[in-house]
Amino acid sequence: MKVGVPKEANPADRRVALVPATAAILKSKGLEVVVESGAGAGAEYLDEVYREKGALITATRDDVFSTADIILQINLLGTTPELQKSDLARLRKGQTLVGFAYPLEHPRLMEELAARGVTTFALELVPRIARAQSMDALSSFATIAGYKAVLMAANALPRMFPMLMTAAGTISPARVFVIGAGVAGLQAIAMARRMGAVVLAYDIRPAVKQEVESLGAKFVELPLETKDTAGTGGYARAMDEEFYRRQRELMKSVISKSDVLITTAAVPGKKAPLLVTRDMIEAMPPGSVVVDLAAEQGGNCELTKADQTVTHQAVTILGPVNIPSTVAYHASQMFSKNISTFLLNMIKDGQLNLNLEDEIVRETLVTRDGAVVHPRVLELLGKSGSGR
Ligand code: NAD
Repeated sequence: MKVGVPKEANPADRRVALVPATAAILKSKGLEVVVESGAGAGAEYLDEVYREKGALITATRDDVFSTADIILQINLLGTTPELQKSDLARLRKGQTLVGFAYPLEHPRLMEELAARGVTTFALELVPRIARAQSMDALSSFATIAGYKAVLMAANALPRMFPMLMTAAGTISPARVFVIGAGVAGLQAIAMARRMGAVVLAYDIRPAVKQEVESLGAKFVELPLETKDTAGTGGYARAMDEEFYRRQRELMKSVISKSDVLITTAAVPGKKAPLLVTRDMIEAMPPGSVVVDLAAEQGGNCELTKADQTVTHQAVTILGPVNIPSTVAYHASQMFSKNISTFLLNMIKDGQLNLNLEDEIVRETLVTRDGAVVHPRVLELLGKSGSGR
């Protein structure tokens, strides 16, 4: 079986789905690895290093698509209709695709993949279970986003993070408030603490209080009814508007005393909850900074604009997208580990062996044998039945 690694379709993306060290692991398991020339260059993984690890470098994207049985990418098909169209045309019947496929956001595109006769695995659907932890690419990227969000905030803040006692007087530490203490939020807390800030955090899942405190941050207690807030796998459930209204009201005073606000609140498959309104921003100290990691899902803050910096009454609001691409070396290394572990879970004697008894395989399989087979995607398409 040949595993193909094209360049990421989005030219602005610096990452690559498979790094040379992992290519060597796939080779040792009996798979051939074919890499598009320059695919890893943006992340500092050069063609010659892939070659040293036993991969074959091909000159063109078409070569990868025409020779590979299995295609590994971070964003399958890219993120614009033009890119999607051109890669769709390169696919052939019987190929297997593994990567982020956005099946819940783009169910129609899944129909097109099915029509091409390819088998598609959406890596973002890997269940959050212990056995699949090393395959969880969303968590890898959220870790990077949480870390980098703090650096971005520190860079934009006209203050320092740590407390310093200097001959020129005492510098008081920055006050950082993190909303949402999932993977990105916990990493942001750890990073802000490392940099010497005083950190407060809130999450609607009360279970994370201990984790927040173990990182040296204070968990903000709000008098909200939170017994039904947790879904499965460490994810939150969507709450009603009245809950969010009350939450905003209760958080207002904490936010008004924060120099940095990092928002990471997310509910899988849903628009991000609106937790910070214009008047809450206006109550923040001048010069304070908001980093809204949920920008791509609509933002947790009313004033966020995805991929832009907004200044509102001396408060800077950053809505960064694709932060992991800015840390391309480690983002690629982590993703490569995740996707290769996922793939090897399905490889037996050098061949792809789909065991639908395995919930990791079942939950991520979106198209097969010319049809969309994932129940949630079928539902979005207005079709019922499992299709499997
Ligand atoms: P996660 O599901 O692990 O964490 C989200 C947390 O938000 C959960 O702990 C959840 O309980 C909490 N939450 C939900 N509703 C809340 C509310 N009303 N108040 C407080 N907390 C609430 O998700 P994650 O992997 O940590 O990702 C967090 C966000 O960062 C997501 O929106 C994700 O898409 C985004 N992200 C952005 C980038 C980027 O480049 N901008 C990169 C990676 C992840």
